[in-house]
This record gives sequence, structure tokens and C-alpha cells, in this order.
Amino acid sequence: MTKRIIAASANAHKIKEIKAITKKFGMDVVSRDEAGVPPFEIVEDGQTFEENSYKKAFAIMQASGETTIADDSGLMVDYLGGAPGVYSARFAGDHCDDERNNQKLLGMLEGLADSERTAKFVSVITMIFPDGQTLVARGECPGRIIEMPTGENGFGYDPLFVPDGCDKTFAQLSEEEKNAISHRARALQKLEELLAERERLLQERNRRL
Ligand code: IMP
Repeated sequence: MTKRIIAASANAHKIKEIKAITKKFGMDVVSRDEAGVPPFEIVEDGQTFEENSYKKAFAIMQASGETTIADDSGLMVDYLGGAPGVYSARFAGDHCDDERNNQKLLGMLEGLADSERTAKFVSVITMIFPDGQTLVARGECPGRIIEMPTGENGFGYDPLFVPDGCDKTFAQLSEEEKNAISHRARALQKLEELLAERERLLQERNRRL
């Protein structure tokens, strides 16, 4: 039986995507709620996705004593020097919603030509084992920001983001289509590769003993 992995996120959309993607790798991922981890706030005050991802994974691993993964992610817009970046969730202020974040972003890009609307989504997944061993995987998905929210699926900035090589926004893609190319899928694929390499090294060490 595969050992379960707790996903530190409190974002139901992220959890759904992480579960669907990791299922293909045979991982058994459960949310922190499903694992019975009592709710508590994790302050995301890091300057990088890596810092915040580590903070979340470490806090939930400590609270649960089980292997944990955390996703810290966001949108980086070239014209804005990489903003909103780690502030993506609260771009329009604390306690704001996706729609206000999207409206703020559209306002800041108003009048710009297509060529100036380039951006990328970034996801950093940190996996921490109960003994503190840590794996970090980063995934990126390049694309551009269109002028009007389009599509009903997904969450966050999905209605504004058209990935390279595609003529639809993330919000117009099906779950399967987004999960095949997203930043989160790319980070989790990399994590899977790191886990396979770790397993290979462990087996090699055991053979030598
Ligand atoms: P955090 O990782 O919980 O700090 O928040 C990430 C924020 O980045 C989300 O609240 C969204 O605004 C944005 N974001 C991250 N990944 C995605 C995605 O796949 N689609 C749309 N927005 C995303």
C-alpha cells in the first residue's frame, strides 16, 4: 500500500488539481482537513515561492508527523517586473477575491499590446519527510494575459491566462487539459522524478550495506 502524503494547502482548487495529477503517479494525497490536522494559520511572509512553500510544508509536517507536500504558486507578469508573484493571492489587498485581483491586473495592463502582456505561472512544490528530508520542485508555464476574463473553469487568474501554444485561457480548458500543461503539473512531474532518483539511491545504499 502506498503511504499517504498530506497536501498542506487550504485551497480546494489546488487540492483537486494536486490529487488528479499525483493519482497518475500512484501517490495517495489527502488534504490537511481529510488528515484531521487541526486548522491553524501559516503566515506566508517569505520573499520567494520556495520560502513560502517550505514554510507551509514544514508546519503541516510538524503538526501531522507525516510526509507533507505544499504548493506555493503565483503569476509573474513581465511588464510588472514579476508582480504579483508571491502576492498573487492578495494582489488587490488582504481578504480580496479572484475577481478583484483580476480586475486590478487588467487595469495595470490596460492599453498594452499583446507582445507586452507576457507572463508565466510558477509553482514550487516542497515535500518534507518526517525526518526532515526535503525535496523541492519548481514548474513554470509561460503564456500571456488577455484583455477580458474568458472561461468558467479553474480559479484565480485562469480566465486571464492563455498558455503558449494554446488559443484558449486556462479557464476554457478542461481539468485534464490544464493538468497536462500547468505549472503545478510540471512541478509535480519534477517531484516524481526526484522521488524516483531518491528511491534509486536508497536501494543502491541498501545493496552496499
Ligand atoms: P498561494 O500559493 O496560496 O499563496 O496562492 C497562489 C495564488 O496564485 C492563488 O490564490 C491564485 O491567485 C494564483 N494562482 C496560483 N496557481 C494558479 C492557477 O493554477 N490558476 C490561477 N491562479 C493561480
